[in-house]
Amino acid sequence: MTVSHRITQITAGGSDGWGLFRKARRMIEAGIPVTELTIGEHDIRTDPGILDAMNRAALGGHTGYAAVPGIAGLRAEIARRVEAQSGVATAPENVLIVPGGQAGLFMAHLAACDAGDGALYVDPFYATYPGTLRAAGTAALPVVARAEDGFVPRASDLEAAIDRHGGRVRSLLINTPNNPTGAVYGRDALAEIGALCQRRDLWLISDEVYEGQVWEGEHLSPRALSGLGERTLVVGSMSKGHAMTGSRIGWIVGPEGAIDALEDLATHMTYGIPGFVQDAALHALRLGPAFEAEVAAPFRRRRDIAQRLVAAQPVVRAVPMQGAMYALLDIRATGLDGEAFAEALLERERIAVMPGESFGRAAAGHVRVALTVEDTQLEAALVRLLALAGELAREMAGPQAR
Ligand code: PMP
Repeated sequence: MTVSHRITQITAGGSDGWGLFRKARRMIEAGIPVTELTIGEHDIRTDPGILDAMNRAALGGHTGYAAVPGIAGLRAEIARRVEAQSGVATAPENVLIVPGGQAGLFMAHLAACDAGDGALYVDPFYATYPGTLRAAGTAALPVVARAEDGFVPRASDLEAAIDRHGGRVRSLLINTPNNPTGAVYGRDALAEIGALCQRRDLWLISDEVYEGQVWEGEHLSPRALSGLGERTLVVGSMSKGHAMTGSRIGWIVGPEGAIDALEDLATHMTYGIPGFVQDAALHALRLGPAFEAEVAAPFRRRRDIAQRLVAAQPVVRAVPMQGAMYALLDIRATGLDGEAFAEALLERERIAVMPGESFGRAAAGHVRVALTVEDTQLEAALVRLLALAGELAREMAGPQAR
């Protein structure tokens, strides 16, 4: 029996970008010590107080089917949070609880696009984006954001992509703070992108799962810009801000009509999210901004370490690290592409990072370092990474340069 084209085309046509990650995992399983800097998962576990709340809720009987759009208290808490952060009036009816940001992205595209509609996304991109958009049945259309623009897309490039697709484009997916580039989109860039969405009648799907991890500038949700509320679906998550990746809980915030329709999708897809996980999320959100700052603090520290080390040598350049939990390093001066450099780093130094090519064309010649190990270990790994880059650059320059 064959499975559907819908499934097989999700990662059709080449590598899924996770080859090096799997190789590092195999080495670790074989007992080889590898410093793992590939994926964006905290080095802390979910806070015991949050787990207590989950346990109490489960033991207290919150183990039956929960209301499909989310329990009232959690929807209200997220509405309050989003309103306080963005200044946009937000009611519980604007909020749908979903099983993590990833599912939220998938569901938002199902809501925005019919089968075959064009769906724009920005390259460099989070590795699941193209597959998510294809799984939702769209024609996934990448638009390159240029390094010289700080990896923020130009409205003119987005518009050209719409025209190339004969105008049949329904949505644009953006991500700020950005994985993998660390870019935080400013007000002017968002206003330009928003104006394009209005002009070309697009849904703007805004992935804000890193909203609490901003090191320069400030996070601005496009939903807060004039005229965009009615066409923006914000995807948020408890994963990054509250170190709850394994609890699989997030939200979509958008116009009431769209959230209503999405509830219908949720009925036929998940039939709701575990009540005890929602209670734990509610407990976590009520811990307030101080708790989120505590979860984010190690990444800010490690970003400063990475910036200091990179500034002290001439070969590797860092893309400005404005937000999120990664350092994107430009290693083109070594003469290698990101795949070959990551491979050499794994073979020679036993350090695993993601090749930029896993995140699209625009991130070629870069590697992404997740800032997800303890400070001294990260510092040691970065020192070795930078030393290897220096060696490779000297080898490329030839014997006369030694
Ligand atoms: N968007 C981005 C940009 C991400 O980096 C991630 C996770 N790494 C997600 C969405 C999905 O996160 P989750 O499903 O855990 O909420």
